[in-house]
Amino acid sequence: MKGTKNLSFVLEGVQKLKFEDREVPQLQDPYDVLVRVKFTGICGSDVHYWNCGQIGPFKVDQPMVLGHESSGIVEQVGSKVTTLKIGDRVTMEPGEPCRRCDACKVGTYNLCPEMAFAATPPYDGTLAQYYRLPEDLCYQLPDNLSLEQGALVEPLSVAVHLVRQASVSPGSSIVVFGAGPVGLLCCAVAKAFGASTVVAVDIQQGRLDFAKRFEATSTFLPGAGSALDNATRLKEENGLSNGCDIVIDASGAEASINTGIHALRAGGTYVQGGMGRDEVNFPITAACTKELVIKGSFRYASGDYKLAIQLLAAQKVKAQELITNIVKFEEAERAFQDVKAGAGIKILIAGPEE
Ligand SMILES: [Zn+2]
Ligand SMILES: [Zn+2]
Repeated sequence: MKGTKNLSFVLEGVQKLKFEDREVPQLQDPYDVLVRVKFTGICGSDVHYWNCGQIGPFKVDQPMVLGHESSGIVEQVGSKVTTLKIGDRVTMEPGEPCRRCDACKVGTYNLCPEMAFAATPPYDGTLAQYYRLPEDLCYQLPDNLSLEQGALVEPLSVAVHLVRQASVSPGSSIVVFGAGPVGLLCCAVAKAFGASTVVAVDIQQGRLDFAKRFEATSTFLPGAGSALDNATRLKEENGLSNGCDIVIDASGAEASINTGIHALRAGGTYVQGGMGRDEVNFPITAACTKELVIKGSFRYASGDYKLAIQLLAAQKVKAQELITNIVKFEEAERAFQDVKAGAGIKILIAGPEE
C-alpha cells in the first residue's frame, strides 16, 4: 500500500486480524540488519494463534504481528556488519537466542529460555514490510535460489532438525506421520540423507497422493481400527515386517503417536515434532520392552539453516513444489482462511508493495 511506513499484519486477539501501519524497526545493535520482507509462508502455528490465541505456554495477550517463515532484501546494515550488504537477498532465521546461557553456549540455542522468536508471544513476527535481525541470523541466498524458495528455508530447517534428531542414515527405513509441509519436507530430507524406505502417513488421501508424487516411497492411510491394528497393516503393506528403524511424528495426533510406537522395530528411534494436545495416552510398555529411543525436536539450531540452504541449492530437496499459491499482502487474511480450510500445501504472502 502506498504511503505506509511499515505495513504489518497483526493478530489483535482470538480470530481478530487487522492491518496496521507501524514504525519501522530501529537497528538495536551495530551487528543488526534491517530486511525488507519479500515472501512469508503461513505456518500452522500462525493459524493456531489466530484461532486459539495460545500454543502450550505461549499466550497472545497483546496485539502481535504474525509470520516467521520469511525471505527478503537487506535494506540497512549496522556499522559492524561485515557479512551482508544493502541489496543482498537473504532468508531469515526468526529467533534470537540470548547467546549467554548454557543451551546457547553448547549450540542448542533452540532450547534457550530467553529466546525471542518471531510471532511467538510477546514477540512480533515477520508479516510486515520491515524486520530487524542480527546479521548472523540472515543467510544470503545462493544465486540459484529464488526469494520464494528462501521463504521455505524455515520449515525445511525444522525438517532438517527432526531428521538429524532421528539419526537417519543410508538404508534407514522411516515412517513419517502427518503429510503437511513439515512432514513432507521430513520425507524429502530423509531421502537426501539416504533413507531407502520413506512411508508417509496421513488421514487425507489427497495429502498422501501429493506425498507419493513428492518424496515418499510409499504411503499409508490409517483405518478405524486400533493403533496396534494400523501398525500391523502399515508394516505388512510396506515390507517392514520387523518394524521400521525410525518414526517421526509431524502430526501431534494421539492416534499417530500410538501407531508410530507400535510400528517401530526393537531398538528403533521415535522423534516427536508435531504439537497437538499437551497430554496424550502413550503406549509406554511397548516403548519399554522394545527399548525404543524417544526424542523431542524443537525448531532448529546450529547448522540447520545452512544445511537446509545447501539441500535446496543442490536440488536435493525440491521444497518449491510445496508452494500452492502466492497472494498479495492485502489478501493475507483470506490466505489464512484458506490454510485453515486445508486448501493446498504451502501458501506464501508477498511483502507489501512499495
Ligand atoms: Zn513455522
Ligand atoms: Zn540462551
